[in-house]
Amino acid sequence: MKKTVALIMTAILALSFAGCGSSGNAASGSSVKTVTGGVLTMATNAYFPPYEYYDADQIVGIDAEIAKAVADKLGLELKIEDMEFDSIITSVASGKADIGLAGMTVTEERKKNINFSDSYATGVQVVIVKEDSDIKSVDDLYNGKKIGVQLATTGDIYCIDDFGQENVEEYSKGNDAVMALVSGKVDAVVIDNEPAKNYVAANEGLRILDTEYVTEEYAAVINKENTELLDAVNKALQELKAEGKLDEIISKYIKSE
Ligand code: GLN
Repeated sequence: MKKTVALIMTAILALSFAGCGSSGNAASGSSVKTVTGGVLTMATNAYFPPYEYYDADQIVGIDAEIAKAVADKLGLELKIEDMEFDSIITSVASGKADIGLAGMTVTEERKKNINFSDSYATGVQVVIVKEDSDIKSVDDLYNGKKIGVQLATTGDIYCIDDFGQENVEEYSKGNDAVMALVSGKVDAVVIDNEPAKNYVAANEGLRILDTEYVTEEYAAVINKENTELLDAVNKALQELKAEGKLDEIISKYIKSE
């Protein structure tokens, strides 16, 4: 089994390497190689407000703006592709997209398939319950409660580890997990804190537990072979930080309490 996975990964890496080598973007004046010359193709899942969401037919949010600022610094045009959260790493690892920004948590497991940029934000896994729920803290989830999560997120992975697969219901979108909570199909939802605030504001009768579940770092994912892009993105992020631009983007979408 392990061997098959290793073989598949080798094949993916070989393909992505071929992809990276085949096009450049000399015309744009940037020396960084991308999947399509002159374009920074970003993979995301645009149902994760305030990091990425639709405003009419436009994908906006913290990640979209950070990626745009990075692309500008690299002399590239930003193109955003919306896909399942579960497909983002595969898309970057197989050389279809250059970068993935999706409020993506840095984990050792994910690092096996892609590189992470330096972290640009902090996230916290929190628990949403109904206002009148008997779940008062994370510990109450151990009593066989049904927990809704978004498929393949760290919330999903940690909940399966801590509370058992049989108590975890996976949904392809965070919003679907929240709807399951509203209709009583699950007792709680574990999700990142900022989307959680958005969901609680949009649906009556929900609250976020005071106890936090896990604190995490968000970073961009980049193909392992394209270390040149990784270095360029890290340099751009450092500059954006020093210029105060990163804070400006984050505080535009997250109002401090
Ligand atoms: N931070 C979580 C993760 O990386 C969720 C991200 C998301 O749903 N977009 O798994």
